[in-house]
Amino acid sequence: MAGFGNPTQSVYSTVRELVENSLDACEDAQRLPRIGISIDIQPSDSMGIKVADNGPGLPYDQVPEAFGRVLYGSKYDMKQKRGTFGLGVTMAILYGQITTDSPVVIHTQNRSGPGRVYRLLIDVEENMPIIENEKELVRVTNGTTVTITLRGDLNRARERIAEYLRLTTITSPHAVIEMDFGGGESTKAIGGWSKHVPTVPTLSKPHPRSADLELLRRMMTKSPSKKIHDFLVESFQQVGTRTATRFLNFVGLDASVRIESLARADISRLSASLRRFDGFGRPDSRCLSPIDEDAFLLSVRSLFNSSWMKYSRRSPSEWQGNPFIVEGVIAIGDDFPLADTPTLYRFANRVPLLYDASDDVLTRLVKRVNWKHYGFSSQLPVALFVHFGSTKVPYKAAGKQSLAPMTEIETEVTGLIRMLGRALRKFAGQRDKSRRDARKMREFTEMFNIVAKYGPALAEVEPPISTKHMVRSLFEVNTDV
Ligand code: ADP
Ligand code: MG
Repeated sequence: MAGFGNPTQSVYSTVRELVENSLDACEDAQRLPRIGISIDIQPSDSMGIKVADNGPGLPYDQVPEAFGRVLYGSKYDMKQKRGTFGLGVTMAILYGQITTDSPVVIHTQNRSGPGRVYRLLIDVEENMPIIENEKELVRVTNGTTVTITLRGDLNRARERIAEYLRLTTITSPHAVIEMDFGGGESTKAIGGWSKHVPTVPTLSKPHPRSADLELLRRMMTKSPSKKIHDFLVESFQQVGTRTATRFLNFVGLDASVRIESLARADISRLSASLRRFDGFGRPDSRCLSPIDEDAFLLSVRSLFNSSWMKYSRRSPSEWQGNPFIVEGVIAIGDDFPLADTPTLYRFANRVPLLYDASDDVLTRLVKRVNWKHYGFSSQLPVALFVHFGSTKVPYKAAGKQSLAPMTEIETEVTGLIRMLGRALRKFAGQRDKSRRDARKMREFTEMFNIVAKYGPALAEVEPPISTKHMVRSLFEVNTDV
C-alpha cells in the first residue's frame, strides 16, 4: 500500500494522515488547533496511535462513511487543503486492521453534543464500514479523537515523526502540537507561533482543464439525466453558456445530448478535449491558501536560530487547470548545516515532505542553480523553505512525498529560487562591502592616531584631547566598528 511500504513508514504515514485531517478540520471551523499525538506501546511491535483535536467534530451519521469507506467523498468543489480526496485515513485504518485485526476507535463531539464513540472495521470486499459498536460518550471539548492500532517500527519512526511535527508548525504556525511518544518521556508541546487562523480559501468548482477521465466520470454519475451543455456550465468554473457552446462545437457534440447516453469513448474524447480547448479562462486562485510573508517568517524564526531571512512569492499560475502558487523563505543561521547548496525544506499544501527528497523536482531545481553566483559559499549556513500550494499536488508516487516535474511548476519554482537568490546576493554583497569598509576604517584610524600623537610634538602645538570625534566627523560614521 502506498505510504505503508515498510513498518517505519507505516507509523509515520498514520500519524501524518491523522494530524492532517485534524488541521484541515480546525482550519475549516476557523479554530486555533490544539492537537495531541500520543502513542501507546503494546506488546509485539503493536502500538495505539491516538490523535486528538479541538476541531468541530463530525456529524455523527457521517462517521462510519468517513472512516469506514475508501474514497469517501461526494463533493467536487475544490480548494487547497491537506487531504486528497478521501484516500488518507482509511489507508491507515486498513493497515491497522490488517496487521493487528483491531478496529479504529473514533470519539467525536460536535455542536449538537453530547459526543459519540465508534469502533469500526472496514469490510474490504464491499468497501463498507462494519460498526463493531457505538455509544454516547461525553468529550471534554468538541473535537475528534481517532485511535488506530497497528504494528510497525516506532523506534525508527520516532525521529521522523518528531521532525515532521516540528516542520508542520512552519506551515501551520497557528497550531499547537503536543507529543507523547510513550516510553516514559514527558509530553512536549511546540508551535502556536501565531494566534491568527488562516482565512478559509474559497471553494471553487473544478476548472475544465483539470477534469481527468476519473473525475469527469464521477461528476457525471451525480446527474446522469442532464444535458451535456448544462452539465458543463453547472459543474465547472470558467464555463458560461457561450463557452460551453463553443466547446461543444469544438468537440462535435450536440448540446442537448444527455449525459447518460454518452458512451465510454465519448467521455474519454470529452475529457481529452477539455484539456486541449484553449477557450477557457484561467483558473480562479482564491481557492489557494499561501502561508504569507508575516506568518512564514515568524514560524521560521520561531523554530530556527537565524540571523537573516527573506520571503518571496510568485503570482498564482496553473498546471493542467489546477491553480497553484509558490512562496518561500531563504534564511541564514547557525541551525542550518553547511553544505554545497542551501539546505532545502519542502512543503506541499502546508504539509512538510520528508521522504524521497532526491526524487523531488524541487530538490533538482535547487541543485541546478549556480549558488556561487548568488553569493553562497559552503561556509554560509543557508536554508531554503519552499511551499507549493495547489488544489491538486502532482505527487510523484502515491506515498505523497515528492513532486513530479511539470513545466509550469518548474518555471515558477525556478523564478522563486532566483528571487530568493538575488536577495541572498544583495545581502552577501552588502555584508562584504561593510566588512571591507570597516577594515579600511580601522587601518586609517590607526595611522591617524599615530599622526595625531606625534604630529603635534613635531609642530610644537598642543595635542588634541581625543581623535575619535575627528575620524567620526571626517567619515560621518561610527568608528567603533
Ligand atoms: P481527506 O482528508 O482526503 O478528506 P480522509 O479519508 O483522510 O480524507 O478523511 C475522510 C473525511 O473524514 C474527511 O474529509 C473529513 O470530512 C472527515 N474527518 C476525518 N478526520 C476528521 C477530524 N479529525 N475532524 C473532522 N472531520 C474529520
Ligand atoms: Mg485525510
